[in-house]
Amino acid sequence: MPDSKPDLAGLEQHELERELVRLGHPRFHGRQIFQWIHKRGVTDFALMTDVGRELRQQLAEGFRILTPEVVRKERSSDGTVKLLLRLADGKQIESVFIPDTPSQTFCISTQVGCAMGCAFCLTGKMGIDRNLTPGEIAGQVRVLAAELKMLDVRFNIVLMGMGEPLHNYDATMAALRILTDEHGLAVSPKRITLSTVGVLPALEKLATEPVMPNLAISLHSTTEDQRDMLVPINRKYGLKELLDACRRFPVKRRERITFEYVMLDGVNDTPDDARRLVRLLHGIRGKVNLLPLNEAAGIPFERPSDDRVNRFAQILSDHGVTVSVRKSRGRDIRAACGQLITESSRTNAPGRRLASLMPVSR
Ligand code: SF4
Repeated sequence: MPDSKPDLAGLEQHELERELVRLGHPRFHGRQIFQWIHKRGVTDFALMTDVGRELRQQLAEGFRILTPEVVRKERSSDGTVKLLLRLADGKQIESVFIPDTPSQTFCISTQVGCAMGCAFCLTGKMGIDRNLTPGEIAGQVRVLAAELKMLDVRFNIVLMGMGEPLHNYDATMAALRILTDEHGLAVSPKRITLSTVGVLPALEKLATEPVMPNLAISLHSTTEDQRDMLVPINRKYGLKELLDACRRFPVKRRERITFEYVMLDGVNDTPDDARRLVRLLHGIRGKVNLLPLNEAAGIPFERPSDDRVNRFAQILSDHGVTVSVRKSRGRDIRAACGQLITESSRTNAPGRRLASLMPVSR
């Protein structure tokens, strides 16, 4: 029979305190347990030595602390590490460590699969299976930090793995509160970036949150018709509405919205596209991150040549738009978001050498 005990790793500190009070214990035990889980990465009640034996026993009987399990770990020669993680119900997700971007970055998932169906994305092809819980979202960071021995090291987090974070809004925001809690990993919101294709009602809500991550918009196109095809949510919340919402978004001083632009050979990478992008971003405090496509079997697009990418970037730069081009990473392990899972479901041959990897597909 599946274990149905509640998971304490998904509770925010105040919720843990409330649970302890409900069990008849002083509130401060909630903070102690939160610290053990999130700051020290301890998931065995027996090891929580400053908590009384009786309480530890009571907790072990009534609760559990879930942590995603590493099924496969692939390390690229450039230092990129991609983890395939199994959740308590057997579902699998991907999390990635990307070194030197310019600092260390963890890329985490918010859903099993994704409902957004972007035309260039393997995860989008899977469709949505289910939302991740706050514990499963925050737990990926605990696993990455433990695997890479980075519990005491500063790192960035990007919500850019599998899933659309704003399509799983409440769990994502709860996970961010857990990750930024001063008694846990205490990651500064300045070090967290949430990437969205533009689920507008949720984006408006995000603008009012006390814990405010940096914002990245997965733009990928400069015309409504083409974006309708590449990023289907555009049919509901169009490019113009999305950019208007970006103009209203409360960007903090000295910060900017990042516009992610996946480059598809002969599709959205022409000089005209670049000039249209300049015009679209007029009046928005933003910067552009160009992402030459991570090619993968089943994705009907190709990566443009470096010349095309550089020419596109040059046009943006000549018009005063800050632009960066994502470096190719993890070429010797799987690159595209969802590729590890797609391959894993095709073969049960762990350790098989695979063609290529990079962190995310968008
Ligand atoms: S690019 Fe992101 S939002 Fe689009 S289908 Fe893939 S995971 Fe979902």
